[in-house]
Amino acid sequence: MDITGKVQSISKKKGSFAFDVLIKDETLKVVSKTEIPELKKGERVAITNLTKKRSFLSSYLEMTEESLITLHPHIRFNPSEIDYANYCKYAPFILKLTGNSRFDDGVMERDFYNTIRGIEPKDPKMTELSDKFIKDIKAKFSFREFEISKKFGIFMKNTLYFSRFPAVFSGNEIRAKFQAIENKLDKYLVINKDSGKLDEFNMTFEEKKSLLNLRNEMVQLYYEKMSDEMLDKECTETCPLFNTCKRIRKYPRDFDVFSTYFSSFLKKDHYFRKKYIKIIREGENPERKSLEIHAVEIHPYSILAKISSNEPSIRKGEDILIIEKPPLDRKIFGKVQNISFEEISCESNVPAANPELVTPLESYEFNYNGIVELIFSQSPLKELFIKNGTIQESVIPQEKYIENDEDQNRAVNLIMSESPFVLVKGEAGSGKKFIAKKAVDKFIQKGRNTLIVTDLRKKEFEKYFSGAENLIKVMDLKDAYRNKEKYDNLFLFLTGTLEPDNIISLAGNCKKIVVFTNNLKEKFYNEEKVPESLKAMLHSQHRFGKHILHFVATLLSDVMKEKEDSEVKIINKDNASPAFLPIINPEKYVQFISISGKVMGKKNKWNKEEGDLTVNIVTEFIKSGVERSAIGIIVPFERQKALLEKLLEEKKITDVDVFEPNEAEEKEVIIINLVENNEIKSPFKKADNLKMVLTRARSKLILVGNKNPAKKDKNLNKVIKK
Ligand code: SF4
Repeated sequence: MDITGKVQSISKKKGSFAFDVLIKDETLKVVSKTEIPELKKGERVAITNLTKKRSFLSSYLEMTEESLITLHPHIRFNPSEIDYANYCKYAPFILKLTGNSRFDDGVMERDFYNTIRGIEPKDPKMTELSDKFIKDIKAKFSFREFEISKKFGIFMKNTLYFSRFPAVFSGNEIRAKFQAIENKLDKYLVINKDSGKLDEFNMTFEEKKSLLNLRNEMVQLYYEKMSDEMLDKECTETCPLFNTCKRIRKYPRDFDVFSTYFSSFLKKDHYFRKKYIKIIREGENPERKSLEIHAVEIHPYSILAKISSNEPSIRKGEDILIIEKPPLDRKIFGKVQNISFEEISCESNVPAANPELVTPLESYEFNYNGIVELIFSQSPLKELFIKNGTIQESVIPQEKYIENDEDQNRAVNLIMSESPFVLVKGEAGSGKKFIAKKAVDKFIQKGRNTLIVTDLRKKEFEKYFSGAENLIKVMDLKDAYRNKEKYDNLFLFLTGTLEPDNIISLAGNCKKIVVFTNNLKEKFYNEEKVPESLKAMLHSQHRFGKHILHFVATLLSDVMKEKEDSEVKIINKDNASPAFLPIINPEKYVQFISISGKVMGKKNKWNKEEGDLTVNIVTEFIKSGVERSAIGIIVPFERQKALLEKLLEEKKITDVDVFEPNEAEEKEVIIINLVENNEIKSPFKKADNLKMVLTRARSKLILVGNKNPAKKDKNLNKVIKK
């Protein structure tokens, strides 16, 4: 008999081990005559092959020689992670933390199966191999997209079977062994990828037990601190982490810091691992739910489907789970290739037959390669970010880089100084990108490279900092943590806050950090340790004129020195329809156009009337001679963006950009759709987001939406009252 439950109490008597396990509402006593893994009260366990025994007073369960015990079976690892635990229990996690992991997913087995089933192969070499098998043999292969073992805490993708036995390609034996454990088998098969020969292997019970013990050691790490024993461990150079660990163990004080970050990494890993398995098991994302699709075209590895809404806000490039209709009910892994207002196209890992739902997977991958680098480096940045020490003052050059703004000129001089850390604070429109560009150009002349990292609007930054490709690169913040390349300078543009793990990881791969933030009041991590002489504050507005500044002033963290308004250039006013002249009037810098359209969707909403009016306004601007590239539309929901792109395309307007808040670029004319008509629940509810979208306009800002919810919203009301 097999059981799964929670450990209640543990005792050890005369060489035998006894513990109580709570299963639902019943407590069962389990006795083992042989050594068991160290158990703790409250821990969840799964035990197989128990026999029922009866003593004089009560009955109990006895572990047999064939019993396997799994700690916390609800936490699933994949076999190749456990394979790395052969080096030691830390190895799989340090591999992930430092971004060195290459865990196998069974891609060869999947492609092989699809080929022998006559589906166009992803890997043409598979055809050659498939031809070596006769028809009757081919028919004996079967395949599963994944298996989740409840008893042994294992998650396996792309499992192949020959008859009832696990089959893998050489090199993937570890997965075959876990398939055998899950299916209570002692045999597995290995396919030779050149000859196609199938070799049979036997597995002993001891081998199964030791594999599960490796897994148990790994899972215990989630519940305990990294142990000092690692400092004395004698490791062999065959371990892929030998050099990394050598550095980790070198200085006990640094080791302590490393173990703190290692624990915070484990916490996140634990959380996301559980969430990921929940989505796969239930076929639905608990927060975002699933998207209903109606397939119109299915090719072996791609699906084109109609959609009527996109409530989970699924985006292009996202990893997904495709769920098929009953009776198939299969779940297939895939990726979104494209999504528009009416259609979605997806790539599937195996051919789908009757897809019905698409669920966002939210694959997690976070590694902090730079943490190891910084902890064990001699960089002055380590002093500030890890030891909470101060940064030394630096000699500041006094060059004239910028003529008309003293604050900006001082900022460039600070950046060009020898200081390893500089903080530049300035509200939206104060010229942070402009300053950065001046400094980057100077560094390029000196042959020093710069990595620009931004938490928003990567495309805009790419356009702005284009050129000198080998000396400048732009990256999204989420990709930058994983970056392993070294740079002389890191220019970090932030609209939000950063966790210590993140800043440390970034600091590990550069010599100098310049942080640009748009909130003068909010403190940056350890800001008090940075001397005032290394901080630059920008107080002048350079992007938009006084009318827009006056409109957004309540959202800004600084009273800014204003600049004159600049009018959008209307060349052929007479071409515009008379009804739209008041709207396109360049002397009206800020306008609110009230419209009460119907709101569709629950979380990812759209409003066709606002969309139609916006497209009409765009058309009138274009008719009156405004460049298409000078106009930008910002909307709060993905669905409204897809709708606007469709409406613009119908009018053959292809080069007017529609942005969601996190991608919004600066333009001469910005038109914003509010979409909602009852209460603002969109990203615009957050003051930071609202500030960001309202400050994208250089000359003219038009808000299109229902005034009632805008009046009820604390932040919007503050600005529209002006
Ligand atoms: S080098 Fe040693 S401590 Fe580091 S992962 Fe390998 S076996 Fe473990």
